[in-house]
Amino acid sequence: MAGGLRDLSTDSALLSLNTATVRAQWSLRQAIEGCARHGIGAIGPWRDKLAECGIDEAAQLIAGHGLRVTGLCRGGTFPAADEAGRQAALDDNRRAVDEALAIGAECLVLVVGGLAPGSKDLGDARAQVRDGIGALLEHARSAAMPLAVEPLHPMYAADRACVNTMAQANDLCDDLGPGLGIAVDVYHVWWDPDLRRQIDRATGRILAFHVCDWLVPTRDLVTDRGMMGDGVIDIRRIRGWVEAAGYSGCCEVEIFSALDWWKRDADEVLATCIERHRTVV
Ligand code: ZN
Repeated sequence: MAGGLRDLSTDSALLSLNTATVRAQWSLRQAIEGCARHGIGAIGPWRDKLAECGIDEAAQLIAGHGLRVTGLCRGGTFPAADEAGRQAALDDNRRAVDEALAIGAECLVLVVGGLAPGSKDLGDARAQVRDGIGALLEHARSAAMPLAVEPLHPMYAADRACVNTMAQANDLCDDLGPGLGIAVDVYHVWWDPDLRRQIDRATGRILAFHVCDWLVPTRDLVTDRGMMGDGVIDIRRIRGWVEAAGYSGCCEVEIFSALDWWKRDADEVLATCIERHRTVV
């Protein structure tokens, strides 16, 4: 294989299923059992599915099937209109750290939040994010749970995340220090002309690598992500950069697809993920 990439062609142990990929079809228990059945080595649960299953139950199921947990999705949503809102966000994020610890997650993924309600001040939102992560880091460090900031595509700056580039995520890591890293999701960063340099700058701090594809046209801003290979992202090239930056963890498939993959049989979805992981990731 070119560029010294790891050979994924036979190694589904290095594949992780983000539960969003089968959100419409499966509970967390079904997703865990599905991964085990298909030989997928890791899982990335969302907190709603985790709460539904029960944290102790989920921890037992995950351990019982020998799965890695590549990350818990998600903490974040720091900006708020007032101090009470900021405190509520911090409390919820501390609980998320504890949940990540309980299921043996390798990191807690942070989708940091957009503008505070009623605000047009993006600079203020970004300052609130920095302060919120700074406050959370104390608890996360004492729990030895790494936090992974996930930069989101700028189309989500208002309502989901005002950290939109790898450069911003790197700046946060430089500012806030140990215990903070980055989740690189190809869907959100593939367009960035500075991507290669910023991934290189992130050497040693990449904690997760999320894959799916960018469809042309994209019919829905949230729920029309593509299966790897069906869109325009050069996933393998980006994986090469990420691995050159020292990342040796799993490739986590995270596909929000109300129009396609959520309508299919979940076992077919997993089989397709495995095949595309071998051929295009
Ligand atoms: Zn992601």
